Amino acid sequence: MSVRVRIAPSPTGNLHIGTARTALFNYLFARSQGGKFILRIEDTDQERSRPEYTRNIIQGLTWLGLDFDEGPYYQTQRLDRYQTVIQQLLAAGQAYYCFCTAEELDDLRTRQKALGQANRYDNRHRDLTVAQQQAFRDQGREPVVRFKIEEPRTVRWSDLVQDEVVWQTQDLGGDMVIARADGGPLYNFAVVVDDWDMQISHVIRGDDHVGNTPKQILLYEALAAPLPQFAHLPLIHNPEGKKLSKRDGATSLADFQNLGFIPEGLINYLAMLSWSPPSDHEIFSLAEAYAMFGFERVSKSPARFDWDKLTWLNGQHLRLLKPEDLTQRLVQTWTQVGYDLPKQPEDAAWLTRCAQLVGEGLNRMDEAARVARPLFEPVAFTNEGLQVLLKPEAPKILLALLTLFQDPPQVEELKAQLQTLAKTLGLKNGPVMQTLRIALTGTPRGLELAPLALLLHQRQAVIPRLQVALDLVQQFQKGTGGVK
Ligand code: GLU
Repeated sequence: MSVRVRIAPSPTGNLHIGTARTALFNYLFARSQGGKFILRIEDTDQERSRPEYTRNIIQGLTWLGLDFDEGPYYQTQRLDRYQTVIQQLLAAGQAYYCFCTAEELDDLRTRQKALGQANRYDNRHRDLTVAQQQAFRDQGREPVVRFKIEEPRTVRWSDLVQDEVVWQTQDLGGDMVIARADGGPLYNFAVVVDDWDMQISHVIRGDDHVGNTPKQILLYEALAAPLPQFAHLPLIHNPEGKKLSKRDGATSLADFQNLGFIPEGLINYLAMLSWSPPSDHEIFSLAEAYAMFGFERVSKSPARFDWDKLTWLNGQHLRLLKPEDLTQRLVQTWTQVGYDLPKQPEDAAWLTRCAQLVGEGLNRMDEAARVARPLFEPVAFTNEGLQVLLKPEAPKILLALLTLFQDPPQVEELKAQLQTLAKTLGLKNGPVMQTLRIALTGTPRGLELAPLALLLHQRQAVIPRLQVALDLVQQFQKGTGGVK
């Protein structure tokens, strides 16, 4: 049997990180088996579905590199097909019209609650006569369609993740609604018709759907459709062990993109949520992941989201990027924040060197804008930075630096020359380096100083910045009467 799997998101919100992870596991399984990965948009909830969410979902999957082989299929384009199957189930006596009103169902719920019973439909309209049905229609009632659930019965399946799962049909809530009064199909029904028609061999989804599976299995049986295999993945929990939610700060893929995670890092991390590779391989690509993937190493327990691990892995993947690739991505980030980047062809090499310097300590792309700021923007002094310039030794350091940078050294020599300069001035290295850093960047911390200084020098930015710092110091000294 050829492997065909699908991701079937509802476009009622942006691509959720949990859906992205389910999509990834489907993709890994498909690719590991030489199978097909299909995208189906479950948009039958017309009130909550929006085209912009569909776009966001498709863009997100594409950004992650989870290219689908078929689709997107849209449930709203298959409404006729659902009607045909509903009619077939009605004709076969496997489904029936139920005319209960919302009030009647509420009364039933209230009564069951008072008796301490679980809420379930009592199948009261299962055997209505044609005349009774007509009487309800004459009252203006519009029926839903319910699928008959045989009771008592045991439904079991061998789940690829959860192992043997057993349900009693008495616990399924009574005959289930498969179509609303307006004919619109409900999830458990539409999903079965779709998975059947699309010849899905493995249904891989979150374990929040385990309770739906027995209902779906009964529908497959009623339709004499071949059963797929099921794999229910444990959900993602936050570090406190609760289901990952909006309160955790980031839930949609877009949130993670905005935080500066790259697809390679995110894919690596998501793959390890409840799956572990066979070797102690921790850093791997999408292609390496599917070469290693199998359900035997998917755990039943929820994965705890670990921000530090994700950030670390992201950093590892940033450092694995080829220089041109890293440069391209950083240039994109820098352009987005509005930095005025040099655009001449001969500037490309300089930008690549900037990208390499910035990339050295980078864990997330969103840090790249802040860290690279001194390379592209005029200096803005922080308070901490000004404190350094107000030290008595600052003017003489700045003057000596101005002389040094008239005839700038190469990277390797610069550190040594700064040390010699400190000695000549009778100072330690620290104050010299700090003063240079503040003059060039305005703040006491940042990129490695010597390569940064040389990159700035190549843009003729060092002398003017030293001069600005010196003017500032001198003005301050004048203002406080401290002129030498
Ligand atoms: N539309 C459902 C969801 O987003 C699909 C569940 C399934 O994979 O069957 O949860």
